[in-house]
Amino acid sequence: MKKRQNNESNIKTCPFCTIDTKRTKIINSKPYTIVILSNPRLVPGHLLVIPKRHVEKLSELIEEEKNELCNTVIEFQEKILLRVSSGCDVRQNYRPFLKEGRLKVDHLHIHLIPREFKDDIFRHIQIFENNLFKELDEKEIKNFLFKKNL
Ligand SMILES: [Zn+2]
Repeated sequence: MKKRQNNESNIKTCPFCTIDTKRTKIINSKPYTIVILSNPRLVPGHLLVIPKRHVEKLSELIEEEKNELCNTVIEFQEKILLRVSSGCDVRQNYRPFLKEGRLKVDHLHIHLIPREFKDDIFRHIQIFENNLFKELDEKEIKNFLFKKNL
């Protein structure tokens, strides 16, 4: 019950439930899904695909919402690849340990991020990731899978 009350109060302040159409460009609207142009200027053409209903995790979507959301992600990734860039990241972050703020919205959304070889994201962020993504050895893989029962 407490969780439900929190969810209702989240909806009142949620930037995606109370979308400001003067400041936000909605570029597509379907029965369950909208697509908006994201504001951060690091990557022009960065889109967000958002279910209209306030949910925080993919598992909370009903079947029709899942289908439409997934098909819309595919549709707009293809548009980006055709008209904006040669690559496109698809990303969804679920981080309940972070407080909602200007750069973190609890309402589920899928990022479509146009990418090019050695683009600004690469030069500002991914250049530091080489050490973070060193390969696991066989023992580390087995330990992790066993401990987490995956
Ligand atoms: Zn919302």
